[in-house]
Amino acid sequence: MELRDQLFYRQSHIHDSISDGEAALAEEYCAKYMAFLSAARTERLAAAEAARLAREHGFTEFDRDLPLKPGDRVYRVIHGKMILLAVIGRDSLSEGAHICAAHIDSPRLDLKQLPLYEYHEVAYLKTHYYGGIRKYQWVNIPLELHGVVAMADSRTVTVNIGADPGDPVFVIADLLPHLGYKQSDQPLAKAIPGEKLNIIVGSHPLKGEDGGERVKLGVMKLLFDKYGITEEDFLSAELEAVPNMPVRESGLDRSLIAGYGQDDRVCAFAELEAIYETLDPQKTAVCILADKEEIGSVGATGMVSRAFDCFMGDLCDKQGVKLDHCYERSVCISADVSAAFDPSWPEVFDYRNSAKLNYGVGISKFTGKGGKSGSNDAGAELMGWLRGVFAENGVTWQYAELGKVDEGGGGTVAGYLGNRNIDTVDAGTPVISMHSPYELTAKYDCYMTYKAMKAVYDAK
Ligand code: MN
Ligand code: MN
Repeated sequence: MELRDQLFYRQSHIHDSISDGEAALAEEYCAKYMAFLSAARTERLAAAEAARLAREHGFTEFDRDLPLKPGDRVYRVIHGKMILLAVIGRDSLSEGAHICAAHIDSPRLDLKQLPLYEYHEVAYLKTHYYGGIRKYQWVNIPLELHGVVAMADSRTVTVNIGADPGDPVFVIADLLPHLGYKQSDQPLAKAIPGEKLNIIVGSHPLKGEDGGERVKLGVMKLLFDKYGITEEDFLSAELEAVPNMPVRESGLDRSLIAGYGQDDRVCAFAELEAIYETLDPQKTAVCILADKEEIGSVGATGMVSRAFDCFMGDLCDKQGVKLDHCYERSVCISADVSAAFDPSWPEVFDYRNSAKLNYGVGISKFTGKGGKSGSNDAGAELMGWLRGVFAENGVTWQYAELGKVDEGGGGTVAGYLGNRNIDTVDAGTPVISMHSPYELTAKYDCYMTYKAMKAVYDAK
C-alpha cells in the first residue's frame, strides 16, 4: 500500500462504491421517502402520517396503565404536532437509550389570525412567515393551504385546499419586470417585504349583494359553504400555506430528489423507517419528531418542552429507573439536514469541511454562528463511537460544516438534548437550497441517513 493511501483520509462517491444490490435498496427506500414527503406537507400531516405508518408496523399508543416489556413498540403524539416513538430494549433504561431526534416543521407562510381582506376588488389572505425564509422565493409559485380551525364549541375543522389535482392553487404576486425598476435596486432581503406576502384568494364580487367588500364576502361564503366557518373562526385557526409542487426525481440521471420540506422530513423519515424495522433491540430505541425547530424549539411541541421528558419518564417509571440516570447513559443523534456544498456558490463553503452530494450522511461536531455560538459541540469520544458504529454497519458518511466561518450559521435541536445531559451529536442529510420552496437532496445520501439511524438503533 502506498504511504499516502495509508495516511491520507479518502472518500469515494457512493455511485462508484455501492453494489448494484444496495443501489436497488436505495431506490426502493427513496420511493417510500418520496411518498412520505408528499403526504407530510405540514408538521400536523407529518405527525399523523408517522403515527399511521407506526400502527401498520405494530406500534400502539402508549398507555400508562399497561406494563411494558422488551420488544414492545409504543408512540405518543403531542398536541397533534410532535410524535415520540420507542421500541423497548433488552437492557434496562438505566443503561441508557439510543435516541434519534429530527424535526417535522418546515419554513412556510402561516395565515395571520385575521387574514382575509379585500383591496380594489381582489380578496387576499395576509400571512406571517414561519422560520427562516428568503421571501423573494415565495412569490409567484403555486401554494396550497393546510391546517385546522378550532371552533369555540371544541369541534376541529380540517382545511386542505390545493393538494388535490382538481383543487385551485394560490399565488402571491410579485411585480412585473417592466415596472420593477425601483424594486430591482433593493437588496434581496428588502425587495419583498413581509407585509407584501399576501395570497390572492378571489376576484368575483358576490352577486345580488349590496354594500362593500363583495369579493371578500364571496370568498367567506365559499369557506362557510365548504367548512362551516365564519371570519371570527380564523382567530382560533392554524392555517399554513406551503408550496404546491410535487415531490419529483430530479436530474437526467434521476439521482436527486426535489421537494418542499426536506429540512427536516428527510431525516424524520430516515428515523421512522429505521425504528419501524427495529425489533428486539438491546438498548431502547427512541425516535423524536419535534415541532417548532425552525423558530427556536420553544413551546409545548418543541424540543425544549417537557413533553419528551414526560414520555421518557413514563418509560423509566415502568422499570423503576430514574430519568436522569437513563439520560446520563443515553446517546442521541440530532438528525437534521446540513448544507450540501453547492458548486454554483463555492465561495460560501469551506470545501474540505463541507458535505458533498452523494458522499453520504453528514456528521457535524458543532453548528452555531460566529465562534460556534449556540452550538452543542459534540465530544470527540462520541464522534469516535459513531465512526465505529457507522464503519461496522456500512454507513457511508462525511463531515459536514455549514459553510465558511463567519459566513452565516444555524442551529439544531442538539443543544436541547445536550442540556438534558444526553451525549448528542448532529448527523443528517446534505441539502441544496435549504429552506427554499423546492429543496434538493441526493438519493444515496437519503438512503445513508436511514442506514445511519438504523445502525444507531442496532448498536449495543
Ligand atoms: Mn432543520
Ligand atoms: Mn431548517
